[in-house]
Amino acid sequence: MKGNYINLSTHSGINGASGNGNGNGKMSLGKSIKMYLTIFIATTCIYMVLYQYHISREPFAAAEVVKHQEKSSSYIASYLWSPISLLMANSSSNINTKSTTTSTTIAPITRTTTTTTTTAGTVGSVGQKVGGASSASIRMVSLAATEATFISSSSELRSGLGSESGSVGGYQKTATTKTSTTTRTTTTTTATAGVLATTIKLTTTTKAKTSAKTSAVATPTASHSENGQKTRPTFVAASEPPPLYIITPTYRRPEQLAELTRLGYTLKHVVNLLWLVIEDANKTNPLVAHTLDRIGVPYEYMVAPMPEKYKQTKRAKPRGVSNRNRGLEYLRHNATEGVLYFADDDNTYDISIFEQMRYITKVAMWPVGLVTKTGVSSPIIQGGKLVGFYDGWIGGRRYPVDMAGFAVSVKFLKERPKAQMPFKPGYEEDGFLRSLAPLDNKEIELLADECRDILTWHTQTKKNAPAQALNRTRYKNTNLEYIDKLLVRP
Ligand code: UDP
Ligand code: MN
Repeated sequence: MKGNYINLSTHSGINGASGNGNGNGKMSLGKSIKMYLTIFIATTCIYMVLYQYHISREPFAAAEVVKHQEKSSSYIASYLWSPISLLMANSSSNINTKSTTTSTTIAPITRTTTTTTTTAGTVGSVGQKVGGASSASIRMVSLAATEATFISSSSELRSGLGSESGSVGGYQKTATTKTSTTTRTTTTTTATAGVLATTIKLTTTTKAKTSAKTSAVATPTASHSENGQKTRPTFVAASEPPPLYIITPTYRRPEQLAELTRLGYTLKHVVNLLWLVIEDANKTNPLVAHTLDRIGVPYEYMVAPMPEKYKQTKRAKPRGVSNRNRGLEYLRHNATEGVLYFADDDNTYDISIFEQMRYITKVAMWPVGLVTKTGVSSPIIQGGKLVGFYDGWIGGRRYPVDMAGFAVSVKFLKERPKAQMPFKPGYEEDGFLRSLAPLDNKEIELLADECRDILTWHTQTKKNAPAQALNRTRYKNTNLEYIDKLLVRP
């Protein structure tokens, strides 16, 4: 042991400096103490570093919020504006009260910042509550609902599904569904205070509430009011926050309902919004109307078929152009303020972009991900100014931007009565933006953190083959008979 100790001290070189035996021993002791102290301090430091690291890895909601706020204040704003967030803010205290509590949320929205941090942490749990509490309501609005839960309208709807009716007929049938659903839901709300039930009520009551402080009124389309009895709540745009008009072209294909469902639930987070869903078809499809009803975002469902000559062509088609022009026409007749945005049914949208575009006065632009070989299409900003455009395909365009990358003020559009989208594949955005002249590049507002962020993506859904026909003999009297009616076949 001793030998070992001596060996050790020799090796450590502690006694190598001095020739004096006595002094050597003292020095050794002194140096040893020094060494142990150093080791102790070093170890303490390592522990402290490790502890810091451990702390930094723990979920910490408040820090998260601040981080986003630093980056872009709109991030928080959008969350604050969302009906879901408002609902959640209320739900903790009001969860067992009547549905009327939720109606307070929309209209009188003032930009208070009080709820932000509290709600941030509760997203998950309340979301789950919505799912859990809502199963009954969801069943009620299901196409495959049994007579017991949904007698009149579901049978009506089924007959509508069997042979697709014309635009008015099909529309009214689904509209009836909506009315029944809403009534039914209200009852559920009072009885069980289901959170989803309250959410549905939210869209309806919103309009009633907001009308009080309204200056702009979007009137219903003829098909709604024609039959005397009002079948669906009318969207009444409130002045504050400025209304949003989202024009979504859609067309018949196996993915259609999935796309609309995904987009619809994104839009459901946004208040004072009218969703203009316009199908490239000659007549509306009750399945689409039903899907929109179920989502519960205020909407108008219209048709605008692509002109025959473009349908026949073997070359690239002007996809969604007649739909978007129909949307513009609707706005010219029914809107006075707010902002319009073309949201294709297959793209992906961060809801904060909606809260940013609301307040623009002319035209706004921002980057769009997943466009061409550059991976993004964006205005180029230097020194705070728009100096050009970045896109994998310029093609002589003055505005080489993607459809998902700009929004236009309704007033600005209406001051340009001829503005519309050309039937020119590849040049739809450019043509429309040019038709908004006069428009100086300096007047273009730059959103998404002055175009340093990506909040919209030009995603594309994989095409699915049409579903094969159901063997009706084999699957007679099974659920498959119902499911089969929910499939969109080209
Ligand atoms: N669209 C349409 N009719 C068509 C093809 C497409 O109305 O024949 C719609 C489609 O639903 C989408 C928009 O037009 O909202 C753009 O079409 P698509 O997504 O196919 O074009 P891409 O994004 O690939 O350019
Ligand atoms: Mn697309």
